[in-house]
Amino acid sequence: MTDPFNPSPEHAALRQMVRDFAEREVDPQAEAHDRDEKFNLPLFRKLGALGLLGITVDERFGGSGMDATAAVIAHEELAAADPGFTLAYLAHAMLFANNLFQNGSDTQRERYLPGASSGRLVGGMCMSEPAVGTDVLGMRTTARRDGGHYVLNGAKMWITNGAVSDTELGDVFLVYARTGEGQGARALSLFLVEKGDPGFQLGQKIKNKLGMRASTTAELTFADCRIPAERLVGHEGDAVPHMMRNLEIERLTLAAISLGLARRSIEVMNRYARERKAFGQPLHDFGQVQRHIADSYAEYMAGRSYVYLTANRLSLASGGQRLDSDGVKLYCSTMAKNVADRAIQVLGGYGYVGEYQVERLWRDAKLIEIGGGTVEAHQKNMTRELSRLESLR
Ligand SMILES: Cc1cc2nc3c(=O)[nH]c(=O)nc-3n(C[C@H](O)[C@H](O)[C@H](O)COP(=O)(O)OP(=O)(O)OC[C@H]3O[C@@H](n4cnc5c(N)ncnc54)[C@H](O)[C@@H]3O)c2cc1C
Repeated sequence: MTDPFNPSPEHAALRQMVRDFAEREVDPQAEAHDRDEKFNLPLFRKLGALGLLGITVDERFGGSGMDATAAVIAHEELAAADPGFTLAYLAHAMLFANNLFQNGSDTQRERYLPGASSGRLVGGMCMSEPAVGTDVLGMRTTARRDGGHYVLNGAKMWITNGAVSDTELGDVFLVYARTGEGQGARALSLFLVEKGDPGFQLGQKIKNKLGMRASTTAELTFADCRIPAERLVGHEGDAVPHMMRNLEIERLTLAAISLGLARRSIEVMNRYARERKAFGQPLHDFGQVQRHIADSYAEYMAGRSYVYLTANRLSLASGGQRLDSDGVKLYCSTMAKNVADRAIQVLGGYGYVGEYQVERLWRDAKLIEIGGGTVEAHQKNMTRELSRLESLR
């Protein structure tokens, strides 16, 4: 029978390669970058040489041409070492590079994707705004056509990779903006905006996040930002289907981050419960501790099976897994948060401090219940999708 988590020899080789790299290079830097709230740009650029930054981008544009399952494997393995660093990877590889590869023209792909795949450019995606998150069709940033240019005005909030340091912008962004009136699906368009475009600035680097501190989060501002009309991605008014399709792989890979994080938490609590003794016995022998460990493992395996089933079915080009891409993130985000919480509990006082990683994993886990869609948004979307079905097959 095919291994559902490594459906081909290429997937298995990818997992081994990323796991080795994560253990050797990502894990040792995780604690310091979390503490200092710093994005590790040199390490990020190394992912380019491994073929990970353009993992789903065609080889013609410098990528690796792999599928959704490969993307899940890369995120899961990196996140077992450092979920914050992996969030920066996701924003670049999925929200920018995959999005542009799927929706851009060949000219746009040629201009940006070789640099994004090698790590020369750091990319991100701007959807959320200071006053608009879940209610994304209500966004206020506008783009007005002016001869051979578009002029953007507004602000984007919570943008991962918006900055690469306290003061410096990331290199290139896909920016959703309003080109039409009202909340209709035809009102939004997608644009490429580069560092150095007039009127485009770093508003603020957001500090003191609960978790995911090894990734940067920024507010970006657009004040009469003039960009050439060729930076429109696709056609005016057709950004919503692009956005929805890209949200599927975003949610799937965010769920993969939750898987890596849960696996690491289980490994830590399992090892600790074997070695630590109380009342003359290993913690493993106590029923309440067994419940923490066994429930965590069963929930992790349920989530992992759901994620890989969905990944194996997901076509990056056409999407169509809306229900389950919401479903995997709904389930895995809370599963991983609960697993990390139990790991802290099993370790007692040692779980509450940094040495064993689980307090960092617990803080990082919470973000997945919010970013890329809140759990309430997933419940709303899924119920709408389910209400259209007569039966479940
Ligand atoms: C660390 C971090 C990184 C991020 N990275 C990016 C990025 O790279 N690009 C990007 O565009 N965005 C990014 N985001 C933004 C993220 O996607 C939003 O925070 C998220 O979509 C929620 O939007 P909001 O924060 O405006 O909350 P709101 O939408 O204001 O929601 C607040 C609360 O109200 C609830 N709520 C809202 N509407 C409903 C409803 N109809 N029914 C029930 N409950 C509802 C929500 O579930 C939530 O509990 C990031 C956020 C964080 C924290």
